[in-house]
Amino acid sequence: MLFCRNKVSKTPCPHCHKNLPYESIMYYFWNGAVNEINCPHCDSRIKPEKDVVPFWPAFGIGFFSVVLTGKLYIRFIDDNYVMSLIASAFIGILAMIIEFFYVIKKIKFIEV
Ligand SMILES: [Zn+2]
Repeated sequence: MLFCRNKVSKTPCPHCHKNLPYESIMYYFWNGAVNEINCPHCDSRIKPEKDVVPFWPAFGIGFFSVVLTGKLYIRFIDDNYVMSLIASAFIGILAMIIEFFYVIKKIKFIEV
């Protein structure tokens, strides 16, 4: 996701209160809340307060949005397997983007 490189989010560092770049949140998004990161401004160790979207619900939302879209597409729109795959991949990506924006809005960091 190159579009958010070096852009600054509205999530402040708990130590120096400067806003963290999206890259730091992306790191959490891919690696989970157990990982500590260094604040790029003051270099103190910080980590997310808690998992914004726990792994299994996030996985479930992604899985069902993909499977349901595939099923509904074949049932109601067109009996075309390839097109239903494309549609469900599209919905899956959409669900991930929505999840990501939700994380950006809700995430809070604490000092370790
Ligand atoms: Zn800081």
